[in-house]
Amino acid sequence: MNAAIGDETAGLAAMLAEARRVVVFTGAGISTESGIPDFRSPGGIWTRMAPIDFQDFVASAEMRREAWRRRFAMEESFAAARPNAGHMAVASLVARGKASHVITQNIDNLHQDSGVPDDKVIEIHGNTRYAKCLDCGTRMELAPIRAHFEAHGDPPDCAACGGIVKTATISFGQAMPELEMARAQAATLAADLFLVLGSSLVVYPAAGFPLMARRNGARLVIVNREPTDQDEIASLVIRRSIGETMAAAVAQ
Ligand code: NAD
Ligand code: ZN
Repeated sequence: MNAAIGDETAGLAAMLAEARRVVVFTGAGISTESGIPDFRSPGGIWTRMAPIDFQDFVASAEMRREAWRRRFAMEESFAAARPNAGHMAVASLVARGKASHVITQNIDNLHQDSGVPDDKVIEIHGNTRYAKCLDCGTRMELAPIRAHFEAHGDPPDCAACGGIVKTATISFGQAMPELEMARAQAATLAADLFLVLGSSLVVYPAAGFPLMARRNGARLVIVNREPTDQDEIASLVIRRSIGETMAAAVAQ
């Protein structure tokens, strides 16, 4: 017990000390302290606008224009965002060899920016800091896409094959990335402590990983301001800010 940091955080610190192989699983909640709004907090993005499904994006040029308008409207927030205390605590768990991987639903690149090596970040919903052709997979940077969009009112087609260009994210209705899903599963099954930071755990298949870890015998810890769908099966639930909780737990 440690009164200074709270019993629950001390509990997390003790579990981290005992664990041999931690997997950290993050959602939008770890990035709110970096100024990127989440989806499901009160006032979150979806209380204001519905997401655009993959099928609608592919089928409609107007939907694509709307998706790009929204993306560019967010650009200042994404470009200005820096890793916060939560990201830094996670990076230190990886640097110490305590955590094997970070599985993230986030698309903001902040785990990589915090110093976690690329091969230890498993992005199951992709990345919004660049774009890809849906047909041939060619990577494109956002700045030239934005310049084209502002000049012509449309995003450019793929220079290599003429295909539709989309941010490198996974939308609702879009297939999950097979390699990342396989890597996430392998990491999950090798973990003895699975640490969820800032996810409401309602989006599947992503939310299947904590369940998988628990069934496989790992401890499950959830740090989230609001209740989640998997609190009942967790070994420990901490309803506090991720930044201060993780900074304190990792400092122990
Ligand atoms: P979510 O919005 O459904 O849930 C976030 C949870 O984090 C909420 O329950 C909220 O209470 C909690 N939370 C927010 N800030 C917190 C803080 N500082 N400390 C503790 N808890 C906090 O997010 P999700 O489960 O990740 O699902 C949303 C989907 O949207 C993801 O799949 C992701 O792809 C995408 N998304 C990503 C970003 C990003 O990259 N930063 C932002 C918004 C949405
Ligand atoms: Zn292409």
